[in-house]
Amino acid sequence: MRRLFAVYAAASLVPVVLLGLVLMWVLNDRASSDGLAQGRDKADLIARVSVAPQLSDADLRAGLTDAERTALKRTVGQAIADQQVLRLRLRDLAGTIVYADDGTTGGADDESLEAARGRTVSKLTYLNADDEDSAPSAPDASDEPSRGPRVVEVYEPLAVDAHRVGVLEMYVPYAPIAAAQAAGQRVVAITLSAGLLVLWLCLLLVSASVTGRLRRQSSLNAYLATHDSLTGLANRPQFSQRAAAAAALAGPEAKAAIALVDLDRFKEINDTLGHTNGDQLLIELAGRLRASVGPQDSVARLGGDEFGLVLTGVRDAEEAIERLTRLRAVVAAPVSVDGLPLAVEASVGFALVPDDGVEVDQLLQRADLAMYAAKRQHCGVIAYELGQDTYDASTLTLVAELGAAIADDQLVLHYQPKGDVRRGRVTAVEALVRWQHPTRGLLPPDSFLPAAEQTELIEELTRWVLRTAASELPMLDPEQRLAVAVNISARSLIRDDFADDVLAVLAETDVDPTRVILELTETALLADPARAAATLTRLHDAGVRVSIDDFGAGQTSLGYLASLPISELKIDKAFVLSMLADARNAAIVHSVIELGHGLGASVTAEGVESVEALVELSRYGCDTVQGYLLSRPVTSLELRARLGAVSAVLLDNSGRITTPRPGRHAADRVRNPGRIVRHPAPGMPTSVES
Ligand code: C2E
Ligand code: MG
Ligand code: MG
Repeated sequence: MRRLFAVYAAASLVPVVLLGLVLMWVLNDRASSDGLAQGRDKADLIARVSVAPQLSDADLRAGLTDAERTALKRTVGQAIADQQVLRLRLRDLAGTIVYADDGTTGGADDESLEAARGRTVSKLTYLNADDEDSAPSAPDASDEPSRGPRVVEVYEPLAVDAHRVGVLEMYVPYAPIAAAQAAGQRVVAITLSAGLLVLWLCLLLVSASVTGRLRRQSSLNAYLATHDSLTGLANRPQFSQRAAAAAALAGPEAKAAIALVDLDRFKEINDTLGHTNGDQLLIELAGRLRASVGPQDSVARLGGDEFGLVLTGVRDAEEAIERLTRLRAVVAAPVSVDGLPLAVEASVGFALVPDDGVEVDQLLQRADLAMYAAKRQHCGVIAYELGQDTYDASTLTLVAELGAAIADDQLVLHYQPKGDVRRGRVTAVEALVRWQHPTRGLLPPDSFLPAAEQTELIEELTRWVLRTAASELPMLDPEQRLAVAVNISARSLIRDDFADDVLAVLAETDVDPTRVILELTETALLADPARAAATLTRLHDAGVRVSIDDFGAGQTSLGYLASLPISELKIDKAFVLSMLADARNAAIVHSVIELGHGLGASVTAEGVESVEALVELSRYGCDTVQGYLLSRPVTSLELRARLGAVSAVLLDNSGRITTPRPGRHAADRVRNPGRIVRHPAPGMPTSVES
């Protein structure tokens, strides 16, 4: 910037100096013409006042009378003595000298003939210039005495009583005129130079202020390009650079930990206390983290409520866990936000350099997996371990291919109907994704979803499924009687803007939110329960139904479950499939149905493969069934053609479906058909045969 300013200063000086020179040249030129005009005026005055009155109006070619010559000598002598004029000659109209103060004689020259024709001729020259011209010798410009002083040489037509009688040739001294002009010119030159200097200084001042502003702006830009504007911490690109630098320096003795810190209840805080308070909290936590790391370590905000840490000089994973646990405690210390003391928990995952890799992208991905595991397991700080991801070469290839597959529309949705047991008709369809792989054929979700779930690709996939299911719904169900169920992975649910994303897709595809069911597994809910609850409440309020998929397979706390706005519980198909053969599983199925109803939710049994299972489930009061009995998952076109047949399966069996009585237990029915049995085991529901 300083160099730029110096260059500008020098460059702006050039036109200013040039302007000064041009102005001075114009001034000088004006001064010369002024000097010439003054000399001419003076000569004119002498002609009219001193010479003309001494002459008669006779043509001078006739010569001067003695009286005229005497009178002329006197007045001209006086004018020369007064230095009004240095030399004076009177010529007749043919240009011949008839009188000269110095007695010179001579014939006409160009100027005198011009003046004889009535035009005044004047020029700035030297007194003896004409003599020099007529007798050229070795020129010597500095030979002032030979050229004589500077004069205004004037040839003026001389008129007496309006008769032109001859020509007056006069040499008016230029020195007094020049002296008077020089004084004025000096003032103008000084004023001009001062003005130009001030102008230049003003330009410099303006440029200094502009360069100053530019400098500030460019350093601000540089700062914003590398820092988070809210907390002042490094941003993601800067964090990647620092992580890369730390990775380059790390070795077996002094390792580096690349850690990701995600706040657990931040969304809830943001939603309940407002964004301003949320921002205050982030600023406070950022300050604490920055103050708690070493000078060689780095803290960055990676977006939302996620922070990144680079810890250097780490001996081993134990030490990293120790240091990160301390940092986690620093974050967890209560913060006063809007007068409320808040304690924010954080989940921290990290990868160690060089043990877990040296490539920043891979390290960040592994730290992310570890952080995600920490969230799932609620255990604070977790180190990346081989096996947290299922990355082998073929999985990596698959994930890379899947990205392109989504863009290339290689994914397809198959739909499986959900049938209402009592009404005997299909009420909803579940969208199940498949990958029409160009070489490997139709791939089931289990072969690519687990890998996708370990990367952000799953979010793109979820969006694709939701958008496709919503846009295929009108074709599948023109009467608008069916709802569509979409499976949501844990990673999508954790995102702060998930609810907004879903509602935006529904608005875009013009699908009523009440026709959409989101299926979430218990594991997904447990990854970040507070955030999940907030997201689901927002979706529920907009009309979207929430279903807990594979219920019974996870470990949801019933208290937490009761706090969620759940519309449906889906009994895990493992229980349903074995229900007829295994009394314990039948008991679980029955209990889950009652639990669901107790929570005000409807209950769906998945994995219903036989009429027996359907009849049994209806006896338990199960609301909806899904399974191969009704239909395998098929394309939307196939399902549309098959919907009537599916309803027929339901209706055909409706005669065998009976309304359950309270306390009836299926397991006993299987073991003791047609008998009323009181189940002896405590806590087990009592079964009554119809
Ligand atoms: P899910 O949501 O529990 O889906 C039910 C799975 O059970 C489906 O397997 C379905 O084909 C299968 N199934 C349905 N009826 C029966 C039956 O009568 N007997 C048996 N043995 N199985 C039955 P699928 O399509 O292979 O999907 C597996 C899982 O993949 C799904 O389980 C779901 O968790 C996941 N998934 C499928 N599509 C998506 C998706 O679009 N996004 C996400 N995040 N996950 C998906
Ligand atoms: Mg499902
Ligand atoms: Mg399921």
